[in-house]
Parts: sequence; structure tokens; C-alpha cells
Amino acid sequence: MNRSTKLPMALSALLMLAACAANAPRAQTSPERKPSRPAAMQSKQAPTQQPPAKPSRETSIGGGGAIPARRTLLPQSVAQGSLVIGGTHPAAIVEYAGRTVRVAPSGRFAFGVGRDEQGPIVVRVTQPATGMIEHRIEVTPRDWPVEKIDGVPPNTVNPPPEIAERIEREQAMVAAARKRDDAREDYAERFFIWPVQGRISGRFGNQRVYNGTPKSPHSGMDIAAAQGTAIKAPAAGIVSFAAPDLYLTGGTVVLDHGAGISSNFLHLSRIDVKVGDRVAQGQIVGAVGATGRATGPHLHWGMNWFDTRIDPLLVLERVCHVGPNAPNIEGIACPTGTATIKPEK
Ligand SMILES: [Zn+2]
Repeated sequence: MNRSTKLPMALSALLMLAACAANAPRAQTSPERKPSRPAAMQSKQAPTQQPPAKPSRETSIGGGGAIPARRTLLPQSVAQGSLVIGGTHPAAIVEYAGRTVRVAPSGRFAFGVGRDEQGPIVVRVTQPATGMIEHRIEVTPRDWPVEKIDGVPPNTVNPPPEIAERIEREQAMVAAARKRDDAREDYAERFFIWPVQGRISGRFGNQRVYNGTPKSPHSGMDIAAAQGTAIKAPAAGIVSFAAPDLYLTGGTVVLDHGAGISSNFLHLSRIDVKVGDRVAQGQIVGAVGATGRATGPHLHWGMNWFDTRIDPLLVLERVCHVGPNAPNIEGIACPTGTATIKPEK
């Protein structure tokens, strides 16, 4: 195959990846399916991005021959608390928030945007053929309502020193589990599913006031469900932490979806997995409870990119906005059978 046909196919592959990143990891093996798409989409590229790489690019690294550039795909804007999935050359070095972001063999990469991020955020992508290119992404601010929660056990709101120490120790263990950076791409293999069905009883990011005392923003999403309801893994992963009785969070499980992206499930009445377990999407990890600082049975589902908390609801809702350049994937139909199930309101 000569170069002139090779590069459009590579671009096509990447754009397919852009459209299907969340559940069609092997889309790049059949780029022919949408032959007309890449050219049309290219013309709509964000102005913040570089012009398309020319197939004649001959810059090479390491004496291994020419490595053509690949267009880096990123959204133009993201909401606070988003999981961002991008695409680039597999050999690219991607840097964001002081971290070198893992790039998969497919060229996919992902990172989280914090609740309080003001933007524009800067993602540096260094490709062999282009050198370093800075991508600037606007951050859409969100409203963070105040949520008053009364009737919480006073010791969990203003813990005495010995309890504060215990809390710190437990949080350090969870933080350590979140440092993991596995090559797995469980977060992108399929669209996430709801771990339990129910009403959202507490949203991510809301400013919380417990018994009249302002505390940290809500770190995840609460879903109302009866005591004992089975909790399904929203995506596949490896259990990186499990403990039955942490002081604040009670029965606690952290499920690592790869590339620093993890879910945590809190207040569980029962835990059905142990650290190191490989869990499939939909597999039961435990049961809903009210352990730790909780006023009643519910599932608290939090998500992280390393220590950056992200909003699970945005992850669930990225059905047709799977990341790489949402503006550019307009018009590409969602794969069938992937609609998320919304909870009753
Ligand atoms: Zn919660």
C-alpha cells in the first residue's frame, strides 16, 4: 500500500475511533465503513487545532523511517467534571495537568477535568512528525447548588481527633489505590451502565452542608435504592480497594477501569469482590447499604481520574459524545443498543 492511501485510512480509523471510542474499540480495523466521513469532518475541525497533517510528512524519529502525523482529536469545550477522551498518534506524548497521560496503542487517551476547573485547559501533544502542539479546551462552568443534609451522626461531621486520624488514614489508602495507571481501557470498551436503577438523590459537585456545617462538595452521585439492592459494575475493571467499614464511607469498593479512571461505591451493606478481582461490566460487586456517613440506604457512586473527581452522570451520558472531538462526530449515528437507561425522575 502506498502512502497516499495509507494515511486517509489511518485518519478514517481515528475518526471512527472518535465516534465509537466508548464501545467499539476495534472500529479502527474496519475504517472503510464510512469512507466519506473523514474529509467532511476535517473541514469542520476546531479552529484551535492545527491544519491536517500532510501524508508527505517525512520527519522521523529514532531512525525507524517516516512516521506520518495523526490529527489529534479533542473536544473544543468540556463541562466541569468531565471525562475527556481524545485520540492521537500512538507514539505521541500527551501532557495535561502536570502529568504524562497514557496513550493506548490505538492512540486513545483520557483525562478528567475537575469540578472547579475554570479553563481554558491546555493539553500538550508531541508527535514525532509535528513536534509539540498545544490544544486549548474551553471549560463550561456549571451550577453547584447548596444541599443541606440534616440528621447525620454528629461524630461524622465534626469528628474527634482520634476519629479524624482514622479518617485520614483510610482516605490515604483509597488515594493510594487511585494512583494506579493500568494499560487496560475498560473505561472505553463499552458505554457505562447504571450500577443500580433509581432516582438521583444527590448530584456530583453540590456544595454540602451537614447539620448546618459547610463541608466539601459532594464527590459523586447518589442513587436512591433499597437496602440490599445488588450493585453492578458500570464498566469492567479490576478491584483496587475493598473494605467493609471505613468511618465515613462504610463498605467501600474502588474499581479501576484503566488509565487512572476509577469508580468508587460507598456505604455498601455487603461486598462481593476482593482486591485484585477482575470484574466484568454488569457483574455484582456488592449491595446497597447505609454504612458510614449516610442518612439512609443509597448508592454513592464516585468516579476519578487519579485524584481528580469527575461526574459519573457525564460519563453515563456520553452516548454520542464519546470524547474525541464531539463537534466533529455530529452526524455519526450511535452504535445500536447503546442508549443509556435513565433513572426515574
Ligand atoms: Zn454521596
